[in-house]
Amino acid sequence: MATQDGCIFCKIANHVIESDYVYEDELVVAFRDMSPMAPTHVLVVPKEHYDNIVDSVPADTLAAMAHAVDQVTRAEGIRESGFRTIANTGKDAGQTVMHLHWHVLGGETLPMALA
Ligand code: 5GP
Ligand code: ZN
Repeated sequence: MATQDGCIFCKIANHVIESDYVYEDELVVAFRDMSPMAPTHVLVVPKEHYDNIVDSVPADTLAAMAHAVDQVTRAEGIRESGFRTIANTGKDAGQTVMHLHWHVLGGETLPMALA
């Protein structure tokens, strides 16, 4: 498993530090954001370290992330009402954790700018 020393999401995704998980499989975890910006605010995170979505992420990992979004939104009851999936990449997008993650936000009518 390729992880990066000192990366907080490597630690959470591999249970070195525990979090509030809502989904897990062999490739990804999903856990609640510590500063939620909506009633449901979950982060979908691969267990291997990738800096962002353009860091040569393998197709099976991207598929696992999409599957996790499906599972999480069903479990949270927001699949029918709608939700937003966001991947901030780099400085101009305000990415603060440099380990690939997708925000999944829902549970209310979302403002246009979020996460
Ligand atoms: P970014 O700004 O990089 O797109 O999003 C990083 C997100 O990770 C933020 O929404 C922030 O609240 C969340 N976050 C950062 N550190 C932790 C942590 O240790 N635990 C959890 N649960 N969320 C975190
Ligand atoms: Zn990492």
